[in-house]
Amino acid sequence: MSLSSETPRPFFLSPQDLRIDDRFILFFENKIVADGATPFWTLESIDPTVVISGRLLRVEIDSGPEFIAVYLDSSPEQSLPSADLISLRSLLFADSPEFFRTAGVANQLDEWLQGHRYCGSCGAKTQPHASERALVCLPCARHFYPRINPCVIVLVVRGEEILLAKSSRHNADFYSCLAGFMEVGEAPEDTVRREVFEEVGVKVSSVEYISSQSWPFPSQLMLGFIAHYESGEIVPEPSEIADAQWFLPDALPTVPSAAISVAGGLIDHYLTRVARVEEQG
Ligand SMILES: [Zn+2]
Repeated sequence: MSLSSETPRPFFLSPQDLRIDDRFILFFENKIVADGATPFWTLESIDPTVVISGRLLRVEIDSGPEFIAVYLDSSPEQSLPSADLISLRSLLFADSPEFFRTAGVANQLDEWLQGHRYCGSCGAKTQPHASERALVCLPCARHFYPRINPCVIVLVVRGEEILLAKSSRHNADFYSCLAGFMEVGEAPEDTVRREVFEEVGVKVSSVEYISSQSWPFPSQLMLGFIAHYESGEIVPEPSEIADAQWFLPDALPTVPSAAISVAGGLIDHYLTRVARVEEQG
């Protein structure tokens, strides 16, 4: 293990590339191996043989301090008895956005690594790229990069009312914005109009971009919009939507937290806007 923190390292690391001050986030069978409220382990808090038994990938978010994602092939139960195996989804409600984001990125990269062990074109085993975060098929010279799937998420408004829906999946007990994947050839605004009509039978116009968020279930980019009601009555598409209603700002159901989801952020954004109009009026 090197003591230097100067030399740039490849993305795919070997044990000899590790540094004494590295921070690690551990995964086993799509679960995060955690001990308390921080996602990170250090060489002081962990037996180094556990770290080097896994596949090692260097990760950096927003040019922040890097960390090493370690994907373990065997259970860490024996070597890390105090650790818990937790799901990424459970972090959504854990009030720790940094933990959620860090673990989310590492989880997306794991999805990509697992899904691209072989070339989809010729079936040969892929190899880590020497310098880029990519997997390479040597026989057909294809590169495979981590893939992001763009989605839209939209808050439909009608005067002061907002349209919120309860999903028919995941036994959802909260209401949220409508959302859906972009189709080939669509601009995000087209997706907003199509998805709203497909899911609740309502036509919208004046589609306005507000904000975005990486959503690691498993690898979406959520593009957040507000759209204005144009016409139609709510008719939920039963395979996707258990219930959908118009809600007034002072009588909202349980909605996602703005701290962690773009859906909550869109709702907050709109409530702030309504409050400002009321102040002025
Ligand atoms: Zn190939």
